Formats: sequence, C-alpha cells, structure tokens
Amino acid sequence: MSFFSTRGRSGVTASQAILQGLAPDGGLFVPAMFPTLEGPELASLGSLSYPQRAALILRQYLEDFTPAEIEEDVRAAYSPERFDDPAVAPLRRLDEATWALELFHGPTLAFKDMALQLLPRLIRRSAVKNGETREVSILVATSGDTGKAALEGFRDVAGTSCTVFYPLDGVSDVQKLQMVTTGGNNTHVIAVKGNFDDAQTGVKELFASGDFREKMKAAGRVLSSANSINFGRLAPQIVYYFSAYADLVGQGAIRMGDPVNFCVPTGNFGNILAGYYARNMGLPIHRLICASNRNNVLTDFFHHGIYTTHRTFFKTISPSMDILVSSNLERLLYESADRDGELIATWMRQLKECGSFSVGDQRHDWMAGVFWADCADNKDTLAEIRARWLQDHYLMDPHTAVAGHVLREYRKAENDRTPTVIVSTASPYKFAADVLFALTGEKDSGTDAFAAGEKLEEMTQVPMPEQVRKLRDLPVRHRRETEKDAMAEAVLAELG
Ligand SMILES: *Cc1c(COP(=O)(O)O)cnc(C)c1O
Repeated sequence: MSFFSTRGRSGVTASQAILQGLAPDGGLFVPAMFPTLEGPELASLGSLSYPQRAALILRQYLEDFTPAEIEEDVRAAYSPERFDDPAVAPLRRLDEATWALELFHGPTLAFKDMALQLLPRLIRRSAVKNGETREVSILVATSGDTGKAALEGFRDVAGTSCTVFYPLDGVSDVQKLQMVTTGGNNTHVIAVKGNFDDAQTGVKELFASGDFREKMKAAGRVLSSANSINFGRLAPQIVYYFSAYADLVGQGAIRMGDPVNFCVPTGNFGNILAGYYARNMGLPIHRLICASNRNNVLTDFFHHGIYTTHRTFFKTISPSMDILVSSNLERLLYESADRDGELIATWMRQLKECGSFSVGDQRHDWMAGVFWADCADNKDTLAEIRARWLQDHYLMDPHTAVAGHVLREYRKAENDRTPTVIVSTASPYKFAADVLFALTGEKDSGTDAFAAGEKLEEMTQVPMPEQVRKLRDLPVRHRRETEKDAMAEAVLAELG
C-alpha cells in the first residue's frame, strides 16, 4: 500500500509516511485505497484479544512491516502493564440504545494513549527500515494531554527521545505533575514562560530553523513530530471502532451487519476521522456524530459547508477540544473532493490567505449524509455529567459529556434509534474538580486536584485510577524552565 499527499500524489511507503509525518508539499498522507474487512473477517474479530484485533487491522495498511513486527509492537503497546482494563478499550452499556467506549485506560488516562503507546514503536521501526541511524528527536508543544501521552509513549524506546514544552501557567496541577514526574532515560520536559501559543509557535520555529536542525544533526539527531496528523497516530485509532462493533455483537446488542452510530467528542478531527476510515473499510456505521464544545468551528462547517477561522477562541472545561483549526479535516475534504489534490491545495491556500473556504453544495450534502454535528457549552456539559450520573450511574469526564449532550440533541432532531456508541475520551478523575462541581453544584475553592478526586471517589464509589493516586508521591524529575525566545538553547542544553 502506498500513501499519497492530500495536496498532490507523491507515493511513499507506510514507514516513510510515518517517519516524515507531514508530506513535503504540506499535505497529509492518506492511504492509496481503503482495504475492506467484511463478512467472515469482521466476524472473526469477536474471538480476538484487543492486540490481535489491532494487528489484523494494522496489517492492511502497514505493508512494509512484517506481521511479526506488528504483532510484537501491539502486544507491547497494549500490554496489561500499560492498560488497567483487560479489554483495553472496554464497552459499557448506559441504556438500551447507548454505550460508552472507554478509551482512557492507558497510562495517562486519556484517549491519546491509544495511538501514542504504539506510534513510537512504529517510528522506531520506520527509522530502521529507511536507513535512519540518527536518534529520532521528537519535539512537542502541549496544552496538557498530548505532552504526557507522548512522554509515556516514547519513554525508553531505543533510538528516540521526546522533549515536551508546556506553558508554565497554562496547564492544570494534575497535568503538570503528570509531566514533571515522568521517568525514563530519554524524556525531557521544559516549562516555557508564556502561554500555549508561545510554546507552540516556538516549536514550529524550531522545526523551521535551518540553524537548529544543523546543530541537532551535528549532535547525531534528526527532528520529528508526534502530532496527530501523523498517519501512525491515525491508524491505531481505526482499531477501536472495529473492536467496539465486535463487542456489541458479542454482547448480543446487535447482529453482525446491523448499523450503529458513533458520537465523538472532537477537537482536531483525528478521532472521528478514524471512525470514518473504519466506515470506508466496510464497518456498518450509519452516522458519525461530531460533538464540539463552544469552539464550534466544525458544527458550523457541517451545517453550512463553509470553514472559517474568523472567530473567538474560548477556554472551556473540555480543554483538549479548544481548537480553531482542525488539521485532520483535510483528509475528509480530500475524500469529498474525489481525491483531487489540487482542489485541496486551493482550499488550504484560501484558508491561509482569507481565513475561510467553501466546499460547495454537492460536497456539503454528501458530508451531511455521513456526519451530523452539534455543540455543547459549559452549562450543557455540566448538566450532562449530572444527568448521566443520576440516570445511568455513569461518571463522565467533561469531554465525553459534550458528546453525551450532543447525542441527545441528535436523537431529538433525527428521531434515530440506531444503537449508538459514545466515544469516552478521558477518565473523570483527570478533571475531578469540574466533575465534582457538576454533581454537587458547589465550587470548593480550597480543594486541590487530589482532594477533589478523593471527594469524588467517596461520593460515587467509582474507584480513582492508580495513575492519579500515585502521582502525589512521585518525585519531580524535570525542573528546567526557559524564556520563550530561548527554546533552542534549552533543548540543546537539555539533550546534552
Ligand atoms: C485530544 C482529545 C479529544 C479530541 O480528539 P481529536 O482527535 O483532536 O478530535 C477529545 N477528548 C480528549 C480527552 C482528548 O484528549
């Protein structure tokens, strides 16, 4: 299987696409075709473990990896030491037509682990396959979740290092503790005196700086990115859509071949795009429901067919979805445009130069047949957390609750009773203070993140994950801080 750029037709192998991340023309790598998994093959998933399901699906795309290599990597990535549920991505029934697919049982308690536990292994192999002998040095700017997930994924993976920049006063206490206590010989965490934009702009400048690249090269290092546009992050996410379907059949909730919907809390459009890829591979998905918070650029896009970044940025209680440019949408646009790379390049130029583009009525109608979109503000989100707890005795984190709310709106609007899976992207204990507030209605300003978690556990009897509990006692291992205009020097000093 070869991979094309969404803005051209440069054919590369899977390992080259993973190693490069972004195509040289600025486009995203997409598979030349969608392999299908239907009938008996789809049915066979039911009796397989999660790593086996992953191996079967990834094999279809990663053709220059041997089956044994893929099996070894998925077994390591989704091992019981790393995921605290034997099912890896367990499915919980909420009511007669609604399930939650829990993607937060990995080391950092958010769905990013599903991809970032595997990606570093794929990058490592891709480097070897392409004769890259230098250390692959990953640089990440994070507003919270991605940084820790990347650190845990790359930790002690031979031939790689991972350096994360976070805004000194821009992440939650738990998120900061998660990062600065990270172990491993190749993990680095640097606080930037500035906000998230400063950190992100700084990292982009490092990637663009010839001088910095030269210095890294002289030290035997080559730069790379673990960004969600990398196909190596997308592919592992396709797996859990198939896995959820197999489990619905296994639980007797549906029969093989019956349609289901997925409702996905969305930011960068990576998670839900993997659902769309699963649908293209033959998985019987009726509707993909795209749920946004107040930063509802995608809701407007699916309603009107016009993407526009002329808008205000809001900070919400679902921070991992606070985003104005959903990079992975480009891959859906590419399919909507019958894989016309020139048209995509034109739209992206318009977006850059004028801040918007329009896909036209025909393509808009086609997308609206597959995707349905709506949004939830903070008030809707808190009300949904409370309602799910009272009705279904299910504790949702704020991101998942955005999806829960939007699913109710979908059912009201479309009167569709197709069994629907809400993709549950974070543990409620990662956002304990807001979840507690949703349940009690009382803001307890005196409580720190741990105290809120303990109260939540006492109230709900939903066990607090070990990953949070043990944070309190882990030693701080990363203390470096930098001015925002001295990030290059900070990396070079840190990596030594
Ligand atoms: C990253 C993230 C999302 C958004 O996923 P996208 O792939 O960016 O759409 C939703 N919820 C949580 C908890 C996340 O960390």
